[in-house]
Amino acid sequence: MKEIVPLTPAPIVQNRLAEVRQLFNRFVVPSYGRFDLALSHGVGSYVWDVAGKRYLDLGGGIAVCSLGHAHPEISEALIEQSRRLVHVSNLYYQEPQGRLAERLVGLIAPGKVFFANSGAESNEGLYKLARRFGHDEGRFEILTAVDSFHGRTLAGIAATGQEKVKKGFEPMVTGFRHIPFNDLKAMRDSLSPATVAILVEGIQGEGGITPATADYLLGLRALCDEKKLLLLMDGVQCGHFRSGHFQSFQRILEGVPGGETFLPDGISMAKSLGGGFPIAAFWVREEVHGVRLCDLLGPGSHGTTYGGTPLGCAVALRILDVIEREQLAKNVLTTGVFFRTELERLVRAYPESCQGVRGLGFMLGLEFHDKGSIPTFSKSDKASSLQMVNRLHEAGLLTIPSGAQIIRFLPALNLSCAQVSEGCEILEGVLKAIR
Ligand SMILES: *Cc1c(COP(=O)(O)O)cnc(C)c1O
Repeated sequence: MKEIVPLTPAPIVQNRLAEVRQLFNRFVVPSYGRFDLALSHGVGSYVWDVAGKRYLDLGGGIAVCSLGHAHPEISEALIEQSRRLVHVSNLYYQEPQGRLAERLVGLIAPGKVFFANSGAESNEGLYKLARRFGHDEGRFEILTAVDSFHGRTLAGIAATGQEKVKKGFEPMVTGFRHIPFNDLKAMRDSLSPATVAILVEGIQGEGGITPATADYLLGLRALCDEKKLLLLMDGVQCGHFRSGHFQSFQRILEGVPGGETFLPDGISMAKSLGGGFPIAAFWVREEVHGVRLCDLLGPGSHGTTYGGTPLGCAVALRILDVIEREQLAKNVLTTGVFFRTELERLVRAYPESCQGVRGLGFMLGLEFHDKGSIPTFSKSDKASSLQMVNRLHEAGLLTIPSGAQIIRFLPALNLSCAQVSEGCEILEGVLKAIR
């Protein structure tokens, strides 16, 4: 084996955090609460900060980096396609968009796909689909769930079932109401003559990692069939194999009587679809309630400049190739069970800090007690989730806070069991230290 000897001594690594933070303070709109961390590069499920410190990334850029960081095949797809064609506008046909649509339809069911650039924008398309569907009958209202999250555009915050995203931006876009999640009776009782659709996440993400129950999904479908409503699902965070199946409802309903024929009428996708390259989509079912739904948004009715560029589609296609070839859905199922078991072990071993584990596949949450009941945390005014995430940063682990008491794990789909163990060891070290 060839030994690599550096010709010059390694440069003195400077901590550039202060400098980068200063740029943000001066020039970037301060709409995000950021952690004191400036990242510089990554490989797989590891990232390095500007001071050269390494972190295991179990947050995956909030469920985005489906193949981890700097995946060679994503780089290759970007290079190859960018040498050919980056963008042409949707005035023309191009093969990658057609091929990606074909792949997504094949993973769901007969229907068609519209391409967008973000989760919020995909959901906007679903709102427009629903409004067009109910237009001639004067129906426009979309019911969503309490604690849901659907994005930060004006309609997105109106659709989102959390007060904190709406505050200060009133008046809200009309036509949305929020109903308790996993409560079928409440949904049935809330329908009005103006209701045209129901929109839910298969697994609530921002709301704290709460999967829909099988009964709830089947009940919503029956309700929508009975009342001629559209059943729309936001798969932005829980989709793209994060549950171990392409869409979370396919996992939740696996083996459940009646589950094999379940199908929503529209599904939004983003996050993991592009593995970090911004591309999003929504799928529309071929036909429902006697309407050819997939052709409802006809020429001129909807559009977006960057939607489904050859470049974005080439990346998304390559990601699907890798997921299939490396059987990453199976990896999520098996490694996800191992991950959950390890987290449950920590909950049992550290009951003074931990309350429980939530979620499935690679969409997991660890719930802590309120900061008031954890002595080490009670001195700070920060929520226990934030304090935990900060301590994990110090220990070399990236996770995502969710609400005041939950930290989320949304790792790359190719995460290994060894990396799960590594992460849980770091976690255990911090749990020991705060005991
Ligand atoms: C992240 C997210 C969105 C919004 O996606 P953006 O790309 O940020 O617009 C919508 N719905 C869910 C469930 C999400 O997790």
